[in-house]
Amino acid sequence: MRDTENINKRMSKSAVSATVPGCIWKCTMIQTENLTKIYNGNPAVDGLDLVVGEGEIFGFLGPNGAGKSTTILMLTGMIEPTAGRCLVDEIEVAKDPLAVKKIIGYLPEDVGFYGNLTAEQNLDYFARFYDMGAKERKARIEELLELVHLDGVTQKAGEYSRGMKQRLGLAQALINDPKVLFLDEPTANLDPEGVREYRDLILALAAEGKTIFVSSHILSEVRAVCRTVGLLAKGKLVAKGTLGEVARTLTPSDEDVVRIVVETRERLPDLDDPEIVAIERNGNRAVVRATSDIRDRLAATLFEQGLHIREMRVEEPDIEDVFMAVYRR
Ligand code: ADP
Repeated sequence: MRDTENINKRMSKSAVSATVPGCIWKCTMIQTENLTKIYNGNPAVDGLDLVVGEGEIFGFLGPNGAGKSTTILMLTGMIEPTAGRCLVDEIEVAKDPLAVKKIIGYLPEDVGFYGNLTAEQNLDYFARFYDMGAKERKARIEELLELVHLDGVTQKAGEYSRGMKQRLGLAQALINDPKVLFLDEPTANLDPEGVREYRDLILALAAEGKTIFVSSHILSEVRAVCRTVGLLAKGKLVAKGTLGEVARTLTPSDEDVVRIVVETRERLPDLDDPEIVAIERNGNRAVVRATSDIRDRLAATLFEQGLHIREMRVEEPDIEDVFMAVYRR
């Protein structure tokens, strides 16, 4: 448990993010300021400003080559930025990479192990990099093997399926009980069962209070576990916020209409309203596309016509459409 003094110290107004709906104030756990990496004159990451609060599961979305891995490599202290800086739990990574490594876990896209060692032996090898006694290591490894469902597996890591390797990778990333977990494309090549298991694990870890930074080029995966996202394209952050906020920010102008879902007991008649762009009917449900939120007027009109309204709500823009539009652009 963190003491009050420490909380007060860390909760200066500028270092606070309250991006997760339903949560009160949150301390900043990951922050980047103008973070930039240039390779051969080309920016792989270009002036990235990002804030991730403690306990968030943050989805770092972007197509292949957008700069996600490069960002994670800078955040984990594997490479140095060309310009700008990044902080994890208020430690500047480039200035004190070892201090950062003690409090983070990292699952790279291509996870590697000693093929001739078992899961337990591999984990013990990595645990020795940290300040852990033999007893503590044994208990931690047992706990982690159970968590990732590799307890009782006697095969050597070289014989593991891709999914088993990924789970062992997650156990390795958790060996030091990190505050922050960086996962680079964690479900690449996992089968649907593996993806489901991974999602449950991520949610359980976040429930423990860990901050999780997940990169992915697959929207559905991010949507399943993350409430806040950043969308990266060509090294630049093009949007950030909750999934709903990002969708609203990026909705292309020709899609810039309010979608009102209406369900009536009777079939919806044609409506004469200058703001209605289109009505798509499906039985007694309809989606009314209008140039603004005309719910009050619509309800009054339907009431006047003697229709019984069962439901009327504004539908969030479909984030899938939005991301496709951004990727195309
Ligand atoms: P993502 O993880 O989003 O797929 P990366 O961060 O791997 O993207 O790559 C971003 C860009 O930086 C790509 O154009 C890639 O070719 C380039 N890049 C990444 N690492 C290096 C490197 N070590 N040397 C030169 N270019 C690199």
